[in-house]
Formats: sequence, structure tokens, C-alpha cells
Amino acid sequence: MISKRISSLSPYKTETTPAKIKLSSNELSIDFPEELRKRIGEELARLPFNRYPDPEAYRLKEAIAQRFGVKPENIMLGNGSDELIYYLSIAIGEFDRGVFYPVPTFSMYGISAHVLGRKRIEVRLKEDFDIDLEKSLRKTREEKPALAYYAYPNNPTGNCFKEDSIRVIRSEGVFTVLDEAYYHYSGKTFLEEALSREDTVVLRTLSKIGMAGLRVGILIGKEELVKELNKIRLPFNITYPSQVIARLMLTEFYPFIEEAVKEVIRERERVFIELSSMEGIKAYPSEANFILFKSPIPAELLHEGLVRKGVLIRNFSYMEGLENCLRVSIGKPEENDAFLQALYEVLKEHT
Ligand code: PMP
Repeated sequence: MISKRISSLSPYKTETTPAKIKLSSNELSIDFPEELRKRIGEELARLPFNRYPDPEAYRLKEAIAQRFGVKPENIMLGNGSDELIYYLSIAIGEFDRGVFYPVPTFSMYGISAHVLGRKRIEVRLKEDFDIDLEKSLRKTREEKPALAYYAYPNNPTGNCFKEDSIRVIRSEGVFTVLDEAYYHYSGKTFLEEALSREDTVVLRTLSKIGMAGLRVGILIGKEELVKELNKIRLPFNITYPSQVIARLMLTEFYPFIEEAVKEVIRERERVFIELSSMEGIKAYPSEANFILFKSPIPAELLHEGLVRKGVLIRNFSYMEGLENCLRVSIGKPEENDAFLQALYEVLKEHT
């Protein structure tokens, strides 16, 4: 029989409606050149895929280590950072101590804790989407969570929390996970602290820089800590094709990614200005590759109207504190234009 813990769980939500323009999952919109696709095809054709891949994915780890300026020994890889979030929720502290995270935020922190029967200690963000330090400290002292998750920048609000609030909560004895999935768009990091402290790790991912389909998540921490965490990693969790393609992308073909990331950052500023100039829309500043905004008409109506025009974004109005809010990922300039035009038209139809 399925346990009560699982039957009471809400599954991970994502947008699956097909649409011509998909700006719903914070992927990187990028047209990879033919030359790269051909090269990948050749590499894959050579793969001995009847054999297990390297369980440590060492060559990929080397490429990642070089890109991020760390040592391979500081890295543990996951099948997406989602898997690493599970591992951290399993490995840090005893299960009778809870998991802390400010909300609204990325849903996997809560899901992983719930699955394991750990108490979820949630504190609402303030109006400006920053951490409510007073309340968080009170909760931390009352509940004594073993670990805390911070999406930095936060998904779906797009902001980076005040660093000192995170440090003050950590000083209560809380193991701290900085989920820097959107690091390439914020440039802000706790990497130095993850490399020097036993109570801090950083999570990164290749998903937001053009490789979501490869499922490669990255945990960075002190060597001794990584060694311990690695004990619970499922063997062969990074597939052969993912190891090979990701390594190619991070070495020879990295310039394409760098260019695309720069374009998204430029486009983010343009879309923010355009959104803010539309009547009734409130756009929230973002350090990620998406923008959260509040709609002047019911979010459901706006979402459906956009889908009818071939544009898919994410409706977050179901989350407490995000009434009538939707999140749009930043795509290529022509995709962003199509979104802005469709938005303008839907709003006009309803006002
Ligand atoms: N962390 C955050 C904050 C995210 O927004 C996401 C993706 N939506 C993830 C982790 C998961 O990333 P991955 O594809 O590496 O599992």
C-alpha cells in the first residue's frame, strides 16, 4: 500500500500544453549550429552504449570543475539538481528535524522533505520578496531545522535574497543549501563559502544554460562533505550520452552558450521595460532568465488567451502570495516580441 506521506503529496507541476512559443520552463532558447549537431551525432555513434557509463562521470566533472573554477573532488553530479535536492534532504540531519525554506519558492524543496516525512518549515517572504528575517529566526529557534534551502536567485520571484539574512539563519546551526540554478544570469554566488565551510553547499545546473534535456545537476562543496554525500548517489546516474554531450558543450562549444546567455540578459532588461510600460501590469525585477509579473485581469484568463495565440508561459497564481502572477521565461528576441504582442492583444480583448 502507498503510504499516507505519498498519497497526500501534490506532484511536481509543470506546463505540458503544446505551444509554438514555449516560455514556461526557464530553458535557454538557442539554435545550435548544424556543425555542433553533426559533431554530437558523430560522438554518439561511437558510444559503447551496451556498457555502463563511468559511474563517477569523471571527465565531465573535470570539464565542469574547470568552468566553475573548482576541483573535480568538490563536485557531485545528479540527474538534474532535482536529484541532488533529494539527496540533501536524505543525508543532512536526522529525519525528526525539519527542512526550512522561504516561500513562495521552487517546489522540490517541499516535495523532497514531504516524501521523507520531514517537517516542512516554511516562512512567507515579505512583500518585496526578501527573507523575513525576524520571523525566520523565530521559526528556526522554535523548530530547529537541520537544513535550509534558498533558491538564489529565487524561482519564481527572480530576486536574490539578502546574503546576510541567509548567514544569520545559518549561524543558528542550520546546514545551508544555496540553489544557484540561475547563477549565469545573476553572477552572484556563495561558492567561496561552499568551498571553505562544512555547513554550506552550492547547487548549480546545466539546465538553464541550454542543456535541460541532458539532466545534469551539480553540487559543489568541501571535498570531505562531497565524499560523504556521494555514498547515497545512485550509481550511473549520469547517462553516457549526457556525459559526452555536456562535456562537448562545456569545452569546444561553450562560446555559443556564453553568447546566448548574454543575449538573454540583454533581453531581460528590454522585456522588463516593455512589460512595465503596459497598463495595469506590475513586473518584478529579475536576476534570473525569467520575469514574474502581476496581471490586471484574472491570471487564468490571460494564460488561456496567450495559449490561444501560441505562447505558453507559467501561471503561478495558485501559490500563496502570488495572486494573479505569471512567469515568463526570456527567450530569443523574436519569441519575446511574440509574447509581448500576444500579451498586448489579450489585455486589449479583456479591458
Ligand atoms: N532549482 C531551481 C531554483 C529551479 O528553478 C530548477 C528548475 N526549474 C531546478 C532547481 C531544477 O533544475 P534541474 O533541471 O537541474 O533539475
